[in-house]
Amino acid sequence: MDTQTLLNYDREHLWHPYTSMIDPLPVYPVESAVGVRIRLMDGRELIDGMASWWSAIHGYGHPVLVQALQEQAERMSHVMFGGLTHGPAVELARLLVEMTPAGLDKVFLCDSGSVAVEVAMKMAIQYHYATGHPERCRFLTIRGGYHGDTFHAMSVCDPVAGMHHIFAQFLPQYFFADRPECTFSQEWDGRDIASFALLIEEHHQELGAVILEPIVQGAGGMRFYHPEYLRQVRLLCDRFSVLLIADEIATGFGRSGALFACDHAGISPDIMCLGKALTGGMMTLAAVLTTAEVALGVSQGKPGVFMHGPTFMANPLACHVACASIKLLLESDWRQQVGRIAQLLEQGLAPCRELAQVADVRVLGAIGVVEMKEPVAMHEMQAAFVARGVWVRPFGRLVYVMPPYCITAEDLNILTAAIVEVVAGEGKS
Ligand SMILES: *Cc1c(COP(=O)(O)O)cnc(C)c1O
Repeated sequence: MDTQTLLNYDREHLWHPYTSMIDPLPVYPVESAVGVRIRLMDGRELIDGMASWWSAIHGYGHPVLVQALQEQAERMSHVMFGGLTHGPAVELARLLVEMTPAGLDKVFLCDSGSVAVEVAMKMAIQYHYATGHPERCRFLTIRGGYHGDTFHAMSVCDPVAGMHHIFAQFLPQYFFADRPECTFSQEWDGRDIASFALLIEEHHQELGAVILEPIVQGAGGMRFYHPEYLRQVRLLCDRFSVLLIADEIATGFGRSGALFACDHAGISPDIMCLGKALTGGMMTLAAVLTTAEVALGVSQGKPGVFMHGPTFMANPLACHVACASIKLLLESDWRQQVGRIAQLLEQGLAPCRELAQVADVRVLGAIGVVEMKEPVAMHEMQAAFVARGVWVRPFGRLVYVMPPYCITAEDLNILTAAIVEVVAGEGKS
């Protein structure tokens, strides 16, 4: 199939994320991807700034991950997890239990981030149900969050930026605290927690859990809030016997400069969701970790079992690749790599601070954000980036990057220089 035929068929028949089927924005056909390079079918190469939405932390086609996939495919690509178990699942559980914050000892493996959020929310509800509190079945979160696209995940996404208005009739109404205003590096201001404290105090008797993204609010606005906020949330959850669900799907595995964003605050959640970078971006897999207390609570009384079990639960291919990716990460000097990226992003994006059309520039770990004052023209901006040989996908008012950790200083400088140029040109034409 020649490229034009492929593009025509794609346009006619394939949905892309958040895309119109009447007037879809153009897509760029990819031939292959290696390291931090995405190679288009016309031979052009783009330096990848997105790590395919937080996931490809080691870059594309890493030989260790490719080999792990091939080995496991030959041994056993899949068997059902009901009544059977296997090395890749057990090894992955062992790695996750060891590396995550203390107390998270029980592992549920599932298919994607959104499903992990559903699983976490069900776990919280079933825990309270089985321990004699069926009335504790609602959730408290913070504005500006993003937790995925399935129904219950949607119900705790930001109510304004999210999809609440379309699905209002189907979505349960939960509680939303004001979003944290104190940024990661500002001095802590105790008033920041007031809205959250008020809501949990008022509604704790009907609350099953608090769910939030620790420290980094991703797709809901790319904001970095103060670790003290998270510590206060932990304390308040403890005081009112409300479980804390940390959605680390975007932040897990070193992205924010700590192995997990919860580590910035030194807290352990009761339930943690992982996804995205879990397999190093090779394929989909997610995990929900919880404490013995929650897992045993869920399993006591009636129904006595956790009511979830996807067909491809603990898929051996994905689990084996995840083990290989985690070992690669832990054996690397990821902390130094992420720190180096942070420094280069800070320097490289600094000129954006001078631009009238820019509201804010912020960096945390290997995440760089240029927040514009007005929404950007995504299609034109995307094309401008591709013309400069980089892959950056802005949304709304945000131009942001989270490159693979292995990106060289040279490539990162090209990436940030392109952002400065394109952002400077935004508004002119
Ligand atoms: C991406 C994301 C999800 C959803 O994960 P999917 O794999 O896209 O379903 C949930 N929570 C956060 C914080 C995310 O960044």
